[in-house]
Amino acid sequence: MSAKAVIHLSKLDHNLDAIESRLKPGVQKMAVVKDNAYGHGVIPLANHIKNRIEWFCVARALEGKELREAGIKNPILVFEAPLAETASLYSKYNLTATVVDKNSFALLPKGTDYHINIDTGMHRLGVLPEDVSELQVEIERYSSKLKCTGIYTHFFKADDPENPEVHLQLDKFTRVRNKFPSELLTHTANTGAIFHYQDLDLQFDAVRPGVCLYGFGAGEVEVPDLEPIMDLKSFLMQIKKVKKGESVSYGGKWIAPANGYIGIIPAGYGDGIPRILTNSIQLLIGDTLYDQVGVISMDYSIVYLKENEFPTGTEVYFLKAKELKASHWAKIAKTIPYEITTGLRKRVVKEFNTL
Ligand SMILES: *Cc1c(COP(=O)(O)O)cnc(C)c1O
Repeated sequence: MSAKAVIHLSKLDHNLDAIESRLKPGVQKMAVVKDNAYGHGVIPLANHIKNRIEWFCVARALEGKELREAGIKNPILVFEAPLAETASLYSKYNLTATVVDKNSFALLPKGTDYHINIDTGMHRLGVLPEDVSELQVEIERYSSKLKCTGIYTHFFKADDPENPEVHLQLDKFTRVRNKFPSELLTHTANTGAIFHYQDLDLQFDAVRPGVCLYGFGAGEVEVPDLEPIMDLKSFLMQIKKVKKGESVSYGGKWIAPANGYIGIIPAGYGDGIPRILTNSIQLLIGDTLYDQVGVISMDYSIVYLKENEFPTGTEVYFLKAKELKASHWAKIAKTIPYEITTGLRKRVVKEFNTL
C-alpha cells in the first residue's frame, strides 16, 4: 500500500452518540451514506450502524442497489428524482423514491413508496409550495399504484447558527406539511439543523445526519464532541539529505532553509491530496508535526524532516483524529471537508478498525 485510510468504527459510534444526545425522544435517524458514505466506504459503515439507525439515505438509486446487494435490510430513501434508466430498481430493490414534480409518477413502478421533497428555498430538487395543490391531484390519481409515505425539505443555511432563513424555510415547510395526512414520515434536519437548531421544532419524525456521522460539523462552528472517523497515512519511501538553498519537487517551489533531510512519501494528488495544499500543511511523524514541502505531485509528497534522519518505512499521517483534520485542509483549499473526504481516490486502501 502507498496511502491508507484507516476508518475507526468506534468513532462512528461516538459520533452517533453525539447525534442522539441532540435528539428528542422517539426521533428516528436516517443515516446519509451517499457517495460511498462521503468517501469512507459505505458497506462496512452501513453494516456497522444498521442496527442503531432506522433508515439509510442515498443520492442515487444505484447506491441503493449496492446497499441491498450487500444485504442491508433497512428502509432506503433515494434523494434523486426517478430516472427512466433506473426506475425499475425501486421495486426490484425495495427503495423509497423521492417525488420532486409530477413527472416522477409515471416513471415509478407499481408498488413503489415515495417521499415528497418540498423546495422551501434551497432551489435545488423539490416541489415549490405554490405547486403543491397541483401535485396533490397527481398523488391522488396514482394512489392505487404508488404510496406516499413521507414528506421532507432540505435547509440551505443550517450550517450557520441563528440564520433567519432556517426559520423561514421551517415556516414554509410547516404550512405545506399541514396539507398532508399526519401519518407521513416527516423529516427536515441535516447536520447543521441537528447541531445548531435544537431550539427549533424541526426534528419532526426523523433527522438526516450526513457529515456529522463522519466527524465534522456543518460550516465554521466546531462541534467539540464530533471526531473525524478517518485517518490518512502513508510512509517514508526514501529519506535523503538536502542542502541549504536546494529546491524540492516540480518548479522548485520550496528552497531548503538549512542542511537537513527530506522524506519522500508515496501519496499525492492522485490519491486525493489536493495539490493546492502544497507548502501549507503539516504531517505527523510520531508525536511531531513536520512541514510538507515542494509541489504535491500525482504520486508523491515531500516532508521536511529538518535534522532528523528517520528509517525508511516510517509511518506518516496526513490526517489524524482531531490533530490533523480535513476541515483544516478544506479551509486552505477553499472548500468543505465533504469534498476532501469524497475526493479520496480508489487507490487509497481502506482499513476498517473495529476497536
Ligand atoms: C446530503 C444531504 C443531507 C445530509 O447533509 P449533511 O450536511 O451532510 O448532514 C441531508 N439531506 C439531503 C437531502 C441531502 O442531500
